[in-house]
Amino acid sequence: MIKRILNSLLNILLYPFKLILRFVIRLLKRLKFSIAFKISASYLLIYIIIILIVAVSTSAGCMVFEFQKFERNTINQDVENIKREFPDFKGNTSMSSSIKSFEIYDDSLNSVYPYNNDKRYSDNIIVVLENLLYNREYVYSTDFEANNRDYYLNISYDAELMINDAFKIIVLVLVSGAVGLLIFVPIISNTSYRLIGPIKNMTEITKTITVNNINTRLDVKGTQDELKELSQTFNEMMDRIEQGYKFQQQFVSDASHELRTPIAVIKGYVNMLDRWGKNDKAVLEESIGAIKNETDNMQDLIEKLLFIARSDKGNLAYSKEDFKISTILYEIEKETKMIDVNHKLYFKFYDDANIYGDIKRIKQAIRIIIDNSIKYTPASGYIMVSGFLQDDYYIIKIEDTGIGIEKKDLNKIFDRLYRAEQSRSREIGGHGLGLSIAKIIVLGHKGKIRVKSTIGKGSEFSIMLPYIN
Ligand code: ADP
Repeated sequence: MIKRILNSLLNILLYPFKLILRFVIRLLKRLKFSIAFKISASYLLIYIIIILIVAVSTSAGCMVFEFQKFERNTINQDVENIKREFPDFKGNTSMSSSIKSFEIYDDSLNSVYPYNNDKRYSDNIIVVLENLLYNREYVYSTDFEANNRDYYLNISYDAELMINDAFKIIVLVLVSGAVGLLIFVPIISNTSYRLIGPIKNMTEITKTITVNNINTRLDVKGTQDELKELSQTFNEMMDRIEQGYKFQQQFVSDASHELRTPIAVIKGYVNMLDRWGKNDKAVLEESIGAIKNETDNMQDLIEKLLFIARSDKGNLAYSKEDFKISTILYEIEKETKMIDVNHKLYFKFYDDANIYGDIKRIKQAIRIIIDNSIKYTPASGYIMVSGFLQDDYYIIKIEDTGIGIEKKDLNKIFDRLYRAEQSRSREIGGHGLGLSIAKIIVLGHKGKIRVKSTIGKGSEFSIMLPYIN
């Protein structure tokens, strides 16, 4: 009960201090110190600590030196005199004037001269320091032999002068340190500001960067090493952002361009219908057919664009499950044979494997590649689809004897809306999005997609999917 009351009392008493402490901490957190100020303050702190260490160690060193000199010149003489007169001190011999007192103890460390029952012999360094600081006396301890017995001696000297000398040294060093500070402060603040200058510059330039001047870069010349590295890293990041931004802009412009053509075609047919097609059955049928075709085309394009946009946003969800790859491969074989009667089709699945993935999406990716082979292989050409295990992957290889792809186009065909020159005709169709979608799907299943091609001879695409053992 009493303890609780005391605790509450203590809490009440300490409350104002706690409030002040909280206020100070909050204030310090809010205060915004510049890096230059912090660097200068750190240098200053180090300087002050060094000066203090120098002051204390110099004066301590001087004191030790003085005491050693004192011991050689005075104390040894006094000890000899005391030993000579022991045990009867009649003041025959002269002692140094700075002796305040001396005590002698026997070998059981009991006081024998001047007899004082409370006093005990001590040569403890702590006691020596305590005496030095509080009583301003230096206690010298030694032992000697007399009448076949050991005796211990403590002599107290007045250390006022030596302490004053030490204090003067401390003051001297501190005053010189303070004078040094006057020179040091402008130098360190100037150095810190010069060191931080490039950062200020970077902040100013970075503030001005917008989409309209996205090509602005930081000046990497003349800065310090780490700052130079920071500027270079920042510039590299800006390069990537600019590239992404330009790519996005190009994509939007290409996609609008792709949509413009079917809209123009639809508009043309609508105008034709409006003018003279209402009563002309042939014009009516042709227009309806063309409009249907173009709207299908547009729908296909928009769905592909949405797929890519969803993938970019990370919103593409796969409903993955374990399944046998043979199930979709045989389905694809059946469907392809049904829709394509113009080519010589061969299907050969050597192995089967369990795959963990989205059946619909994987089928979509394989279909995209087979549809391309159909599109880019002249009639009566060969299209061969095989499936087999190799190392950690199940490989679905689609080979054709089609128009092939030029070497320079090989690493671009997976880019969005890219179409190799020889395939850019409206008759063939396509928007240059199929392979980007196939790539997204295959990568989404931790797989790989490879292509080999020879212009005029044919192409070979391989979808590699990791399988479950
Ligand atoms: P597209 O809709 O134009 O076919 P894709 O992204 O599927 O778009 O293909 C991109 C480009 O790659 C095609 O325009 C074509 O130039 C080339 N390509 C893809 N597959 C083949 C192939 N089997 N033979 C020749 N060229 C191909």
